Amino acid sequence: MSRLDNFISRMTAQRDILNQICPEVAKMEGLVLELGLGNGRTFHHLRERLPGRRIVVFDREVGAHASSIPEAENLVLGEIRETARKFIGIDAALVHADIGTGYDDRDAVTATWLPDLIARLLRVGGIAVSGTPLDHPLLQRLPPPPSVSADRYFICRRV
Ligand code: SAM
Repeated sequence: MSRLDNFISRMTAQRDILNQICPEVAKMEGLVLELGLGNGRTFHHLRERLPGRRIVVFDREVGAHASSIPEAENLVLGEIRETARKFIGIDAALVHADIGTGYDDRDAVTATWLPDLIARLLRVGGIAVSGTPLDHPLLQRLPPPPSVSADRYFICRRV
């Protein structure tokens, strides 16, 4: 698969998965946590799909389009592994993590800490969506929408 095709499939997976889970998240209490602001596209999408919901966004730095920058009180800068730890126990309804790099060795390092962090951030019944696998005993894998192939993007429920 070319990098262009890979990018398109990632964008499609993000949109289709977020569209699928947002109606359920809308009925659940709890913060939404966006791990990786990037250009701000998925943050912008979540803001549209979950009007009124507080979305706290994490990144090392702000590189987003001006239309997609969270308010200062909802933006946490620094290394997610450290900054998001302070939110453990917050009982988030949704954690979306788009911090894959496309480099297997770097993503393997992320896989050593991200699943446990997400499990501790979510409420029971809350949903995790991630571009990298979330292998953890408290994160039960859910099937993606039909448009998303298995192992393209991951959805889990906190049990
Ligand atoms: N979903 C975003 C969008 O729709 O525009 C794109 C996110 S981009 C692929 C990943 C972002 O996560 C980058 O801005 C990068 O700086 C940030 N990031 C990745 N790993 C991180 C880490 N360990 N700590 C803080 N930020 C991180």
